[in-house]
Amino acid sequence: MAERVLGIDIDNTLARATDMMPTLAGIYNELLNLGMTPDEIEAARHYQRTFEIPQIRAFIQRGEDQRTLYYDARKEISANPHIYLDLESLPLAQEGVRQFIEQFGGPVFFAGYWTVRSQANAPATGQWLNNHRYPHPERLTACESPKDKLLRLARLTIHHNQYFTTPPGLLLIDDSADALGEAAIQLTLHDQFETRARRSGLLPGDYPIKELFRKSLVVGFGKDEKTTVYPAARLRIVSLPDWNPDTLAHVIPFIQTELGKPNDNRLDT
Ligand SMILES: [Mg+2]
Repeated sequence: MAERVLGIDIDNTLARATDMMPTLAGIYNELLNLGMTPDEIEAARHYQRTFEIPQIRAFIQRGEDQRTLYYDARKEISANPHIYLDLESLPLAQEGVRQFIEQFGGPVFFAGYWTVRSQANAPATGQWLNNHRYPHPERLTACESPKDKLLRLARLTIHHNQYFTTPPGLLLIDDSADALGEAAIQLTLHDQFETRARRSGLLPGDYPIKELFRKSLVVGFGKDEKTTVYPAARLRIVSLPDWNPDTLAHVIPFIQTELGKPNDNRLDT
């Protein structure tokens, strides 16, 4: 079996983050006096970012003063760890994480949790992992974007290369699999990203990031399709619909088989 570095996303992979938007909308409603109805607060669930919520967007567009008030509220909210501490853990996720760590055994280095959240929220996030009894809650990395997540994981993996007998690849469990596929394409197609990352020390040595992706798998959490390929980036995505034991009993052996095959053998099929 090939050696791998395992990383796991948090929002919508381990934590039910979709519940976060109505909570946030409710807080903005109070702080900014938006006069939202309970139904409107609940409907915030359909938006990814708070400034896309119609009532908040309308407020910001009223003028410079309102804009400032919104940003002040945002600062206050992001310093409030309760939003993250209150999130629900997805059913059976803890056991699923343990199975991934154990079943991939010795050759896998568990690189912990990789989240697109601000550094300011890292302590609350670590606390949440600990409260919900996830293994190694101290292994937590806050990233700026899916692209930043891939770059940081690549850096860690390439760094670990020296401890492995063969160059490892990545195994990343993440619900934003398509965003990661797109990010991988940007990272590999446009050389300037890779060059800049090397210049800033984010990518060590001259190990090509494409070579790393060729041996990597993104496990698309919550996805139903069996496997998707991003040929340009040589990155492959396999799906893990949920954390149920029956699902894991199928998916883990499938991933173990797939890990042994470099992605470029399967890109044309
Ligand atoms: Mg996520």
